Amino acid sequence: MSWGEIQGHDSVVEQFRRAMARNRLASTFLFIGPPGVGKRTFAMRLAKAFLCEGSKTDPLEPCGHCPACQQVDALTHPDLEVISKPKDRSYIPIELFIGDRENRMREGLCYRISMKPYRGGYKIGIIDDADLLNQEGANCLLKTLEEPPPRSLLILIGTSEQRQLPTIRSRSQIIRFRPLDEGIVADLLVSRGLIDDPRHAARLAALSGGSLRRALELDDADLDEFRQTMLAELSQADWDAVSLSKTIAAFVDAAGKDAPAKRERMTQLMGFAGEFYRQVMRGFSDMTIEGDAILQQAVTAAHNAWPGGAETAAACLERCLEAQNQVQANANQATLLECWLDDLSTITRTASPLCPA
Ligand SMILES: [Zn+2]
Repeated sequence: MSWGEIQGHDSVVEQFRRAMARNRLASTFLFIGPPGVGKRTFAMRLAKAFLCEGSKTDPLEPCGHCPACQQVDALTHPDLEVISKPKDRSYIPIELFIGDRENRMREGLCYRISMKPYRGGYKIGIIDDADLLNQEGANCLLKTLEEPPPRSLLILIGTSEQRQLPTIRSRSQIIRFRPLDEGIVADLLVSRGLIDDPRHAARLAALSGGSLRRALELDDADLDEFRQTMLAELSQADWDAVSLSKTIAAFVDAAGKDAPAKRERMTQLMGFAGEFYRQVMRGFSDMTIEGDAILQQAVTAAHNAWPGGAETAAACLERCLEAQNQVQANANQATLLECWLDDLSTITRTASPLCPA
């Protein structure tokens, strides 16, 4: 069963359906889940359902062809505001929330969402990259979260709960998105024209750990091979931080000349490492290990080799999240890599979390 182009999130659709039937819909949602499972697509579909002006029997089914539906598709609907982190910035700048200096409180998402709906229905704000909301941005949002304008809906999209600021977390209803089934990933790859050969799509899907984005990354043979090398290294009890940081730095440099491309690759590699530690932690806690064969293999190796347990893995995961934030904050690449790997190797080897600096 699917909801329009949305596949694999029936329980989330049901959750919304029930809340709407009981008239108990929250005004702020925090969508949490791994990258590439369809959170943004889901948010857009929801926006369309709320703003649709066509005749419909099901409040969650947009007609798809009325002017409002078309405006949502084209991102030109006056009652829909979608913001995300600009490529050249480390955080979502506050201008996007409250307007630039000349237009403070007369522009931006917080201002627009406080206006009456133009077309009569709802005001909807979608904040992509909510992982990259800094304190300043969160402060701008606070008033909107505390006194949501009537008939408004705000959706924040992020990858993990730990990466959200407490002020945001405590004021949102958290909706969790699970990894997609293998078959769904394969279907999406072909039906969206991303991969031509269905057999190749099935192979990528089998290794994707339920993420469409991950499946596409796997289509990049260099990146995939590098990930395997890196995870094999991290799964050992004693590895050389200096040599691994050189290897990683060279691979990051190969991503391209411009800083955003390098940052993107570094974030990706830190994400791979973070996912590895998350699964090591799950394994140590007797939970099922999720993910593709390479990841499972690395996790098993870590369980056999590491002197520590779940707490060690949790400390490493925490360090990866911190490093990802530092990349976004434009920290010096070489230093950042060295410190990150040095900390990871120390935590792994000594099986004790580092003292706070
Ligand atoms: Zn419509």
